[in-house]
Amino acid sequence: MTDWRERFPGVSEAEWRDWRWQHRHALRGAEDLARVVALSEEERRGLTVTRPLFRFGVTPYYASLMDREHACCPIRLQAIPRPEEARAAPGDLRDPLGEESHRPARAVVHKYRDRVLFLAGDTCSVYCRHCTRRRITGGEEGGFDREAVAEGVAYVRSHPEVRDVLVSGGDPLVLADERLEELLAALRAIPHVELLRVASRTPVTCPMRVTPALARLLRRFAPLFVVTHFNHLKECTAEAAEACALLVDAGVPVENQSVLLRGVNSTARNVRKLNEKLLTFRVRPYYLHQGDLAEGTGHLRTPLACGVGILEELRGRTSGLAIPHLAVDLPGGLGKVTLQPQYLLAPGDAPGPDGSGHWLRSFAGERAFYPDPPAADCSCPYDAVFYGENA
Ligand SMILES: *Cc1c(COP(=O)(O)O)cnc(C)c1O
Ligand code: SF4
Repeated sequence: MTDWRERFPGVSEAEWRDWRWQHRHALRGAEDLARVVALSEEERRGLTVTRPLFRFGVTPYYASLMDREHACCPIRLQAIPRPEEARAAPGDLRDPLGEESHRPARAVVHKYRDRVLFLAGDTCSVYCRHCTRRRITGGEEGGFDREAVAEGVAYVRSHPEVRDVLVSGGDPLVLADERLEELLAALRAIPHVELLRVASRTPVTCPMRVTPALARLLRRFAPLFVVTHFNHLKECTAEAAEACALLVDAGVPVENQSVLLRGVNSTARNVRKLNEKLLTFRVRPYYLHQGDLAEGTGHLRTPLACGVGILEELRGRTSGLAIPHLAVDLPGGLGKVTLQPQYLLAPGDAPGPDGSGHWLRSFAGERAFYPDPPAADCSCPYDAVFYGENA
């Protein structure tokens, strides 16, 4: 890998390792990028035609991971727009997850009974070309001021059914420690909020954001999980490893959500190599997201069969811990569902010996019969004693 010093001459080690320096010096256009990579004609056009449509910005750190020659580099594909981004693909939606109809406060999306998404801001270290919330990260709504945050906190406080708050955005870790602390303290002070999650791509796009002080701050609000967003092995640098280690060593568990992106990570090898590496970072692969129908992302989406095929190739061939859930967030705001290869064979396909049971296939394609047990009542009699009427 090229050393960043060659691409950003004159930058001191201290500047490079300062997350605020990284944000202040984000690359903002073709001219900046051309100093780091040999921009293709397509990328130049993409930058021009998407300028009025969605923000562009890349930290010098993330830019330093780009392949200088090959435009098919997974970092370039995630960070530099292509002309297709300005074209609508079939089914593209401005609000692909139907969040607007589940938005009781400006900062809150409440779609599932027991958990909410809390929008903490509209800015990010890098603007991912596949961003599902680009209607927000595009900046059209404006940021989330103190008033919007206070209103969101008040909503959570007045809804005792909410036990899990997922702080996202935008990227909440572009906030200063003090602002973040204020928000987390307000949420933690709500007695019915059991679990906090902070969704941030900074371990990938600006790992210097994860300082020992931030890791200690997050630990104070335990149980709190950081959910990050690695998509490719190329992003698993020594700096990213250090950011994850700081969090985990401080006692903050880290989960990863990848987005399946055509031509970026859409093969079993890519998903396996990434997830095996993340486990060595002590980061657990959680979701592999099917691309949402966000406007301008059609060229990055895969057919549903691609993701299912990848899981098929992983099962039995790597640690179960390296196999994420393949999630499809349904259009219309209907929520996430998961897909997986079908291991249960249809009864008609393969009638059992005597008695009832099921034929299944193994990951390698052999068949096995699993007989049903003699009785089928699965209720637990002790539940009434232990839980009483509690749900
Ligand atoms: C994905 C999502 C969640 C969290 O879902 P989990 O399956 O619990 O990770 C919560 N709220 C919204 C609106 C979401 O999109
Ligand atoms: S970091 Fe997340 S919210 Fe920000 S642009 Fe990327 S995908 Fe969107």
